[in-house]
Amino acid sequence: MPRPIQATIHTQALRHNLEVARRAAPDARVWAVVKANAYGHGIERAFDGLRGADGIALLDLDEAQRVRNLGWRGPVLLLEGVFDQRDLELCSRLGLWHTVHCEEQINMLAIHKTNEPHRVFLKVNSGMNRLGFQPEQVRSAWTRLNALPQVDEISLMTHFSDADGPKGIDAQMAIFKAATDDLPGERTVSNSAATLRHSGPGLVSDWVRPGIAVYGSAPDYPEHSSADWGLQPTMTLAAKIIATRAIDTGASVGYGSTFVADKPMRIGVVACGYADGYPRLCPTGTPVLVDGVRTRTVGRVSMDMVTVDLDPVPDAHMGSEVTLWGRAANGAVLPIDEVAVCAGTVGYELMCGLALRVPVVVAD
Ligand SMILES: *Cc1c(COP(=O)(O)O)cnc(C)c1O
Repeated sequence: MPRPIQATIHTQALRHNLEVARRAAPDARVWAVVKANAYGHGIERAFDGLRGADGIALLDLDEAQRVRNLGWRGPVLLLEGVFDQRDLELCSRLGLWHTVHCEEQINMLAIHKTNEPHRVFLKVNSGMNRLGFQPEQVRSAWTRLNALPQVDEISLMTHFSDADGPKGIDAQMAIFKAATDDLPGERTVSNSAATLRHSGPGLVSDWVRPGIAVYGSAPDYPEHSSADWGLQPTMTLAAKIIATRAIDTGASVGYGSTFVADKPMRIGVVACGYADGYPRLCPTGTPVLVDGVRTRTVGRVSMDMVTVDLDPVPDAHMGSEVTLWGRAANGAVLPIDEVAVCAGTVGYELMCGLALRVPVVVAD
């Protein structure tokens, strides 16, 4: 029998979360962002849940090829544009739309040979200071692109640094608007946090670009939880108890003896460790479900195992179901965000870090 650990991708939940994003920005078309192999879910596994999107956004050309191989004929957007001159050939061949964020990318386009002019998304740096033209360079970049026979439609794009927090998007939006005011073309500005928190009449957005919300994690946790936004988990990481043990007061558990029992208790050993993608940084007390009942981890996470407190689940035994994040068989939910904060990180990192050795199944 294989080691009892498995991840499940929930197709209906992907569909549902995509609808949540759509309802939040009803006038916009929705890119489903599937970069990083669909945030660790696997593009091929998530695809069925995402085919209701208006477009697929990603940043790896190999992933774009995979999306086309799945039969997707709709828009595909390269969020970082091309990295190399030769990438433009694939853009022409696969009909990819691509971001243009720097002069070098315009230079590559200018010498690209294609029969099919490309649709491009001119990226404005409105304050994130990673990719994009400075506001005062936008007009000349637009003019240069507009003069190229290789370019068909030009859309405008920016990305927010603080859509999930108190700083918000107003300052960046003002910069974006001023830089693009009289330029024609469609606009796309919103990631998940902006889509959920800042969609409204003031926000001109023809396309929204939700990623994390589609995968059921709240972009602004802990201010809001996934339940607050009506989002459902799209990935469950589940394992089984492979041993139970009673320990006395004063007994320690695991490497470094970081946990010491202050009363006699029962613990369970779970077939999941950091080599499966469960963060080693999760301390004692990280929430976990055993047979759908909430309890906690005790002691350090090791490579292949983690130990849990079985006192709240007296009937638990070898073979009992342990939900590390996601949905248990009894319907109970442990949001990935709750586990992520215990490790000092975000749900994104946990999903993307699901290890290759974990078998994955797709469910309805
Ligand atoms: C990753 C990404 C998104 C999606 O961000 P989420 O926070 O996951 O919604 C949107 N736009 C760009 C440019 C991105 O790189």
